[in-house]
Amino acid sequence: MKKTVFITGASSGFGREAAKLFHQKDWNVIATMRRPGKETELSALGGVHVTRLDVTDKTSIATAVAAGIRQFGAIDVLVNNAGFGTLGALEAASEEVIRQQFEVNFFGLIEVTKAILPGMRARKAGTIVNVSSVGGRLGFPFSSLYHATKFAIEGLTESLQYELNPLGIRLKLVEPGGYKTNFIDGGLNFYGVGDLDGYQVAYDRFQEKIQQWPLSENIGEVAEAIYEAASDGTDKLRYPVGHDTAQLLEARRQMDDVAFKTMMAGQLGV
Ligand code: NAP
Repeated sequence: MKKTVFITGASSGFGREAAKLFHQKDWNVIATMRRPGKETELSALGGVHVTRLDVTDKTSIATAVAAGIRQFGAIDVLVNNAGFGTLGALEAASEEVIRQQFEVNFFGLIEVTKAILPGMRARKAGTIVNVSSVGGRLGFPFSSLYHATKFAIEGLTESLQYELNPLGIRLKLVEPGGYKTNFIDGGLNFYGVGDLDGYQVAYDRFQEKIQQWPLSENIGEVAEAIYEAASDGTDKLRYPVGHDTAQLLEARRQMDDVAFKTMMAGQLGV
């Protein structure tokens, strides 16, 4: 029996790469995105159902889940992947910027999860893969809102295991480092520091340094990590991926809070 995966944010980056990988592995794929009209490659693949879903629009979530179940019968795996990043000083962030960051990365993930859970609960089976980040384990400068959403996803996922594992549902966290996707090329909202005193020099230095961060082009390894999390049948929770992730997590393990902050501040010019 073919398995079915439901992916959010499948228009580009990790979501799109994961959709192609699951298809190659002979899964049914429900590839959801905000603007499916622009998609041609995925919709041409047999067994891939491309449909509209904006994680901030509950009606679109309900419609996409119902359409996916109608098409393939059931959803075995949910990949909560949709997300974007904001950069700037917290004090300069408008209420709209703050709320939008959480609406998409966090509340959107909750709404999609809640829409998928009844089917998984009824069948006493399922896996939910939440795409977090190395930024769900540690913080970079001038990225507080983004990290807050990813730390929130980590806490939510870790806690959910206790109520969902007994119902046959597994929880997973995929934690990529820096990759060259639309996330970096256009997806980031650099709202900056406004006209506030005190931040500009450090923010400019940070921007210069972060643009030199060695980004990996190997998006396929993130798709592989998502696939492994979805299909390995274990209770393993975290799947860190990327060479920078490995180095950062190792440094975080070895250093105390102050030593780690000092190292990051030095590397990122703040
Ligand atoms: P990406 O290429 O920009 O993909 C992000 C996807 O999320 C796009 O399909 C985008 O759709 C979608 N999205 C944004 N807002 C949405 C909304 N309201 N409703 C539904 N979909 C929405 O970037 P990516 O790197 O693949 O990012 C995927 C995930 O990985 C994100 O959660 C991100 O935080 C995480 N991540 C990325 C990196 C990295 O370095 N790239 C590192 C760690 C974690 P549109 O095409 O419509 O904008």
